[in-house]
Amino acid sequence: MNEIDSIEQPEKKGHRWWQKIPLTLQIIIALILAIAVGVALGAGNPSPANEALIKNLAIPAELILKALRALAPPLILVAVLHTFMTANIPGTAGRRLAVLLFTNTTVAIFIGLLVANVLRPGTWGRLSDPGGTGSAQQKFDPWGLIQDAVPKAILEPLVNNNVIQLIVIALSFGIVLRAIKSEMVSQGKNEFKPIEDVIAILFEAVIRILNWVIALVPLAVFGIVSYTVAKEGFEPFISLGAFIIAVLIALALQACYYLSRVRFGSWVKPLNFLRGGSDAFLMAFSTSSSGATMPVTFEVLQDKIGLRESSAALGALVGANFNNDGTALYEAMSALFISQVLGQHLNLGQQLLVVLTSIFASVGAANIPNAGLVTMTLVFTSVGLPTQYIAVLVTVDWFLDRCRTAINVMGDMTVSALLDGKRDRG
Ligand code: ASP
Repeated sequence: MNEIDSIEQPEKKGHRWWQKIPLTLQIIIALILAIAVGVALGAGNPSPANEALIKNLAIPAELILKALRALAPPLILVAVLHTFMTANIPGTAGRRLAVLLFTNTTVAIFIGLLVANVLRPGTWGRLSDPGGTGSAQQKFDPWGLIQDAVPKAILEPLVNNNVIQLIVIALSFGIVLRAIKSEMVSQGKNEFKPIEDVIAILFEAVIRILNWVIALVPLAVFGIVSYTVAKEGFEPFISLGAFIIAVLIALALQACYYLSRVRFGSWVKPLNFLRGGSDAFLMAFSTSSSGATMPVTFEVLQDKIGLRESSAALGALVGANFNNDGTALYEAMSALFISQVLGQHLNLGQQLLVVLTSIFASVGAANIPNAGLVTMTLVFTSVGLPTQYIAVLVTVDWFLDRCRTAINVMGDMTVSALLDGKRDRG
């Protein structure tokens, strides 16, 4: 089990009345109010007298984005270290698991990029500039990236949000800490424990701060939607609608890929897989959290689908911590979508960089609601896309998060079935 799960959450008491309203409902209320305010302020034809007010409506989204950008590097760093320190994976099964996770995530990203390249949702309508001060559009320079891969100081990537440098640091420390732990375990020593505990506590701390930021998302949605409607009317939402359709198609294709893998790589029948797993999919959709769904995933894999405990544990418990194919697919599609909106073509090299950073971003996307939004800032930065456009995606993230979480869970379950192999259970 995840170390973090053993950190007891304090009793949630003394909540104010609005904190008792589910986040999704808060966002929907914010959307309705925002449309009303946007229409009152001109619906695409604003009077000059309201200009200052409309501009200020974008401030909450800008602040929340800044917070997400600041949290992304520490989140990825501690998530990768935490995974290396705590994942308890036996030798050969571990290697198989790693290969399966890597292939599934890569396929997910390629499906996402393919659908986004074919449908080009970013060209279906115009999207307004959300304003704000995100990272500016930069020129892509692959050699420069390689030259820059090693940071001048260890903490530098935490300051400049350089994702390649962050990956280098996280992997180096992750591999070394894991090796030290293994050596100590084989000598019967446990001096690594305090470091493991510190990493688990830091991980939990970053996630708790992230939850504060997420609680403010309805405010950001209200601001950015009323700003957009007031300034541009409803046209920008055509593009967002196209984006939702494209993401849903890509997620559906990924689900088909999983089912064919299950059909040909394990003894489980795809229909039984779907029927047996339905509780986990529904739970993932309703909580937007593959972490919260983990106990249900583990249970249905064993009790309803009939996998061995060891296969169920590897896929559901290890996979849920760092296997987020739906998130990877979504992050890559978002980057391509915004590049299309801006008319900024991402060439093959840049799209490959999107693949690489999306893999890491999805590993770092903790299994909680909206976490993908945080790490997406790094994917955008890596190819020089302005991160302030993520504010626009916040408007639809509450729904797409549910869908990609269900796919994240389905991905974990697929890995479990594949690890269980082809032996016939009758
Ligand atoms: N909500 C997702 C999960 O729990 C992570 C994400 O935001 O993409 O799996």
